[in-house]
Amino acid sequence: MTDSRCDVLIIGGGVVGLAVALEITRQFPRRRLLLIEKEDQVARHQSGHNSGVIHSGVYYKPGSLKARLCVAGAAAMVEFCQTHGIPHTVCGKVIVATRDDELSRLEDLRKRGEANGLTGLRLVGPDELKEIEPHATGLQALIVPSTGTTDYAVVCQKYAELITANGGKVLTGTSATAIRRSESEIVVETSSGAFAVSALINCAGLYSDRIARMAGDDPGIKIIPFRGEYYDLVPERGSLVRALIYPVPDPRFPFLGVHFTRRIGGKVDAGPNAVFALAREGYRHSDINGGDLLDSVTYGGFWRMAGKYWRNGVGEWHRSLSKAAFVRALQRLLPEVKESDLVPGGSGVRAQALKPDGALVDDFQFVPSGKVLHVLNVPSPAATASLMIGKTIVDTAAAGLGLA
Ligand SMILES: Cc1cc2nc3c(=O)[nH]c(=O)nc-3n(C[C@H](O)[C@H](O)[C@H](O)COP(=O)(O)OP(=O)(O)OC[C@H]3O[C@@H](n4cnc5c(N)ncnc54)[C@H](O)[C@@H]3O)c2cc1C
Repeated sequence: MTDSRCDVLIIGGGVVGLAVALEITRQFPRRRLLLIEKEDQVARHQSGHNSGVIHSGVYYKPGSLKARLCVAGAAAMVEFCQTHGIPHTVCGKVIVATRDDELSRLEDLRKRGEANGLTGLRLVGPDELKEIEPHATGLQALIVPSTGTTDYAVVCQKYAELITANGGKVLTGTSATAIRRSESEIVVETSSGAFAVSALINCAGLYSDRIARMAGDDPGIKIIPFRGEYYDLVPERGSLVRALIYPVPDPRFPFLGVHFTRRIGGKVDAGPNAVFALAREGYRHSDINGGDLLDSVTYGGFWRMAGKYWRNGVGEWHRSLSKAAFVRALQRLLPEVKESDLVPGGSGVRAQALKPDGALVDDFQFVPSGKVLHVLNVPSPAATASLMIGKTIVDTAAAGLGLA
């Protein structure tokens, strides 16, 4: 027995699921589309708990999906915000080298950015850095003019509004609980009844590997949750930061290192770090989910990753538990910042796909399986790139999913 039928069902009301849904309603307005989200609103997880940065694309390996979709996606995001009156800025950012060994990596980033098609990248010395960010210090800085900021929760609301206006349906408070597949149809059991569908797209973020398994597929990866914690700069010290001040990232990791972000509303935050979370939706230290924890620690890939990166992991936990250590990391960029300038802020949990050999999946990963498509790895800059992720998925998968 099914309660309803549709042509395509999307699981997950984050920025990626919504962007895919929006693109389907644009390209195939006659298809009956349903997006389900387990929370009572869209954007309650990664998409509503991020830094709000419109990334430029400077960091990513030339030719990768991340590089291509971020550069095009950032331009598309700015245009989307302009068209729909969503607050945003294109304020630029500085990436600051504070140690000798970071200078060559900064130059590599400049070359990488240019290879990705960015313009206006410039290396400047400490004096020019001071003209741009008067309180930042460093040996050299890379100026990235096309970086911006917005509020992705507001972007998601607008995506949902447009999907509905185009004839699609967004059903919140509805969790996918089981999936049955046969030759002719897929039945998705949910907390709001069963839906018989012709095609299914899994955009479940932190649960995308479990949804893949629910659909009878082996995802070949495990989602490992990494919490990012922020401090807020107290308003009276907000003037220490004009826009965005970042360190030179460690190229072995997908995380960018703690940095300063002036948010779209004017608040400045510092972070996020990257600590292994003890629950997939574990926003605080005290959030522990035995099942999630067991799922991570019984995975061989987890221990292989831990074996490779345990030093960095210990450092991240130290900065998570000790405000003094967190502030010391920030003082490399902004020596004037003091512990008393910072108060605890929010947090977000990243869904990072991990391979059985302990390698962190670097690029975006979309995996087709018959009339099902699994979006298995869409970490940062996926919010920036969301419109282009939606377009790429629909352009490449529509025929296979029977939409075209
Ligand atoms: C701390 C942090 C900072 C970041 N900063 C940036 C940034 O500045 N710029 C940028 O571009 N990107 C940034 N990112 C990355 C970006 O936020 C994510 O890549 C993006 O939000 C992923 O979107 P998503 O739709 O895949 O996941 P989500 O937003 O997590 O959405 C998945 C949805 O699926 C739902 N779901 C799960 N299981 C089920 C089920 N069984 N049934 C129904 N629904 C289900 C969940 O409730 C959730 O709403 C950051 C991420 C984090 C965590």
